[in-house]
Amino acid sequence: MTTRTRFAPSPTGEPHIGNVRTMLFSWLTARHAADGKFFLRIEDTDQERYTPGSARVIVESLRWLGVELDEGPDHAQLAAMKTNEDWEGAADVSGPYAPYVQSQRLDLYRQHTDLLIANGLAYRANETAEELERMRTAAQADKRAFTFRRHMRLREDIRPDEPHVVRFAMPLTGTTTLDDMIQGKVTFDNGNLDDVVLLKSDGFPTYHLAAMVDDHLMKVSHVVRAVEWLPSAPKHLRIIEAFGWQPPRFAHVPLVLSEDGKKLSKRHGATSVTEFREQGYLPEALVNFLAMLGWAPGQGDEQNVFTREELFEKFTLEKVGASPAIFSYAKLDWLNGVHIRRLAPDDLARRLVPFLARGGVQIDTPDKLERLIRLMPLVQVRIDRLTKAAELVDIFFNDIATPSSEMLIGPKMEQHLSLAALRATRSALAALSAWSEPVIESTLRDLGVALNLKPTQLFTVIRNAVSGKQVTPPLFGMLDALGRDITLERLDRAIVRLGAN
Ligand code: GLU
Repeated sequence: MTTRTRFAPSPTGEPHIGNVRTMLFSWLTARHAADGKFFLRIEDTDQERYTPGSARVIVESLRWLGVELDEGPDHAQLAAMKTNEDWEGAADVSGPYAPYVQSQRLDLYRQHTDLLIANGLAYRANETAEELERMRTAAQADKRAFTFRRHMRLREDIRPDEPHVVRFAMPLTGTTTLDDMIQGKVTFDNGNLDDVVLLKSDGFPTYHLAAMVDDHLMKVSHVVRAVEWLPSAPKHLRIIEAFGWQPPRFAHVPLVLSEDGKKLSKRHGATSVTEFREQGYLPEALVNFLAMLGWAPGQGDEQNVFTREELFEKFTLEKVGASPAIFSYAKLDWLNGVHIRRLAPDDLARRLVPFLARGGVQIDTPDKLERLIRLMPLVQVRIDRLTKAAELVDIFFNDIATPSSEMLIGPKMEQHLSLAALRATRSALAALSAWSEPVIESTLRDLGVALNLKPTQLFTVIRNAVSGKQVTPPLFGMLDALGRDITLERLDRAIVRLGAN
């Protein structure tokens, strides 16, 4: 049987990073299989919780992460959503089981409930919200869990043209066992289940109906979804059985918790793909990190750093643990640093451009881009987020304020000693016939000896004079990249500032 998996978000805002990780498990399951297919289905059946623009963020997040869709809503389907979600740049996918937006499949759901009603497996009910609330309160007073069952109906024989919901006639006795790929065998007592609503009075289906119908019609082989759905799984198995279908394999993915053991929320940091992107994480690192939340290759394989191709090869749902995964921002930062160092210099430089602009460094000419690419060896090993590059490279593209005299005095040095050191540096560097890192290094090391200064003394004075900062790329590479003119000009300004005191 072909492996077919899906991501089925409800368009109620940006997907939480926990859902994104569930989506990745689903995607990786399809990519691991030789001819697997992965698709997107928008579950917009709760029109009240619908948030305009959600489908767009969902599709954009997938694209940024590098998650390709084999099937999914196309422009026409996106445009037919409650608020037109179509936009230029969205991939035009669709596929053999279109439409991939549930609000465009309402006839199908109605046909399926009609079938169940005709077979006595579902029924019409019209208890009002107030009546149901009264039943719930009475059950609470008796310390019973409230589960609506058909014998509690206040009115029977409701005509199809009267307002009503359709409920499923859930078995009243016996048990239902789910053989979950992650949670193992779980048995539920049917007596605790309820006659769930399949179709609401507004004609929209509930998740319980729509997802089962669509997973069947769209030939989903593995339903990878959040563990929150586990209590509903026996109902879903019964609904699937009522239709006479073969159930898919289920994999209920455990929760993601923060390090304090609580549900991951804004309080702990970023929780959406957009936020992680803006904070300077690479999609490669985020995919790698999220895939490892609860999954490990196992059997003594300690590998932590994975390319997407390696994940395709190694990922299986059987290796996902059943206990909650802990989200460590420190580990994500570490992985991000690793993936940054794996990028080719020109790739990294191009990705940095928008982050540098935000940090006040405009890379707006081909020449500046070339210079930026040449700076990558100095930057690549020093940042673990793209947002951190601006403070390292700004001195190469923007003029600096002349440092204060305090800053220009080296450790354990008097003012006149620092001034003499700056003057000697200026003339030694001005006299160089070649400007290269090794030449600069040997010249300055010799100068330190001649001046009877410790390397840190001399180098601190020079670093501060040409950068105005205490933290910079390594000195010799920095001077090489700055070039002779700028270096000498900044040394001159430092000499004037210190000499004026
Ligand atoms: N629309 C459901 C949700 O967002 C989908 C769950 C599933 O993957 O079946 O929770």
